[in-house]
Amino acid sequence: MTDRLTPQQRHYVMSRIHGKGTKPELLVRQWLWRHGYRYRLNVKSVPGKPDIVMRRYRTAIFVNGCFWHGHFVEFSVEGLEFREDGSKCCKIPETNKEFWVNKIRRNQERDQQNYQVLHDNGWQVIVVWECQLVPKMIEQTMLQVELLLNEHFLALHHPKVVAYDFQDIKNSNTPPSMIC
Ligand SMILES: [Zn+2]
Repeated sequence: MTDRLTPQQRHYVMSRIHGKGTKPELLVRQWLWRHGYRYRLNVKSVPGKPDIVMRRYRTAIFVNGCFWHGHFVEFSVEGLEFREDGSKCCKIPETNKEFWVNKIRRNQERDQQNYQVLHDNGWQVIVVWECQLVPKMIEQTMLQVELLLNEHFLALHHPKVVAYDFQDIKNSNTPPSMIC
């Protein structure tokens, strides 16, 4: 059967399908795997069913589609008024706008609740946005993710590792101890 959509239209439709195993999530998984990180997917026992769960790092990663999760879109508390800041990623359709505004607002509220529950249970939450995974940004984005993972790992497992205070050497006859 031939595709009745042009490739551009197909890409648009696919990019708006809200589901597991979509391309942005795959990019994050592939990068982590290539760099030796191991993870679990869609773990239901972890609040909010994060896309990627890294128990060793007690970190939950959400890979959010810019449209569905309203990247750069902030809603006011009352009414349907909302503010879009630099929202090239989340263009709310003019047709049926109220429907989309409500839908994206609910998604954002649910996201915040999930992040809060995870945080309260000692999880680090990392949100990676779809627009941060374009070819010219993905490496920088993932290096930031890697830094967050390792910082959290250190905080969890090696809380006593600190930079050596060199002023101590002058005032002390004992040799500086090794940091281990
Ligand atoms: Zn975005």
